[in-house]
Amino acid sequence: MRFQTKAIHTGVNKDAAYNSVMTPIYQTSTFRFEDIGTTKGYDYTRTSNPTRKALEENIAALEGGAGAVAVATGMAAIATTLHLFKSGDHVIVTHDCYGGTDRIMRTYQEQFNIQLSYVNMQDPANLKKALRPETKGVWIETPSNPLLNVLDIRALAEIARAHGALSIVDNTFLTPVNQRPFDLGADVIVHSTTKYLNGHSDVVGGAVVAKDQKVAERIAYLCNALGQGQAPFDAWLVLRGIKTLVPRMALHETNARAIAEYLAKHPRVSTVYYPGLATHPHHATAKAQQTGFGGMVSFEVRGTIDDVNRLLRGVKVFALAESLGGVESLIDHPQTMTHASMDPALRAEAGITDTTIRLSIGLEDVQDLIEDLEQALPGRH
Ligand SMILES: *Cc1c(COP(=O)(O)O)cnc(C)c1O
Repeated sequence: MRFQTKAIHTGVNKDAAYNSVMTPIYQTSTFRFEDIGTTKGYDYTRTSNPTRKALEENIAALEGGAGAVAVATGMAAIATTLHLFKSGDHVIVTHDCYGGTDRIMRTYQEQFNIQLSYVNMQDPANLKKALRPETKGVWIETPSNPLLNVLDIRALAEIARAHGALSIVDNTFLTPVNQRPFDLGADVIVHSTTKYLNGHSDVVGGAVVAKDQKVAERIAYLCNALGQGQAPFDAWLVLRGIKTLVPRMALHETNARAIAEYLAKHPRVSTVYYPGLATHPHHATAKAQQTGFGGMVSFEVRGTIDDVNRLLRGVKVFALAESLGGVESLIDHPQTMTHASMDPALRAEAGITDTTIRLSIGLEDVQDLIEDLEQALPGRH
């Protein structure tokens, strides 16, 4: 089956009793045994549940992995994955990663002695330089949040593999529709399914996918041991969302490109961060390893914090809100919102300033989005 067919069909047929076309929501904590020591494959929902299993099989198929777990949030996916490591292990992390990723990494460093280095891996040579004998993991987030820097997954995964370290890719921004990390040599993929995979801003969720069976089994063990599994109803929503992932990603991108091109010509915008623009510093890498550029656009307002505040208050179609990847467009001020929990020095080093704006471009008529920005941006003088 091809990708879009898998998105709709893989894993979904869980109802042998009544042949429901859609996967039922198995809203149960526990399952009756057939006999002592014999079940129909499920005993307790923390360990496994047929609705969640459908989603896990679906995501594993879309990413091309041996197995997946669906968990409560994207952070649960990241936390579960970090439990692959032990005290003293060293993990190298994308320097401009998601704020919550930075927060949990620092917490694990303080409490469990997971050693961290934040490295700008835009030049893969910087990863090589940062390797230590105890380096066991390389955490790759590409495109990065919010500045959409692109990392060369193939080059980084190869360096990690040669060193005996796992490469982990946060594939939240592009989804398997536009980026296939396993084909590029990565070992583990994490998702916040809250974003594009679900796509309708009505659930929080996460997923961890492993390329190899052994790692997949360890992840499933950790998911059960830590109690991270996603609730059946939430898993069902994500499964439903994925059925339209392919056409949604296509329209997100069409709209995002139009917005990026509009902003690039605006005199009160100094920089547009969109890897689909030929002017983006990592456009060539993005073009080589991605099959699309996604729906996120960030930019710098040429002006003061007052101009920024006027924009944030002035938009009417865009909602001032955190998160991303839904059908509706959102505007975010990373410094005070999504990235407020990030270490200020790291934030500054990443290049996030008080005039950085991040847009999650939704599926509205793009002309309405452009007119909304036009009336809220500082005047053209
Ligand atoms: C949102 C996000 C997360 C965290 O996911 P939650 O579902 O909010 O817990 C992790 N990584 C990236 C890139 C994200 O955008």
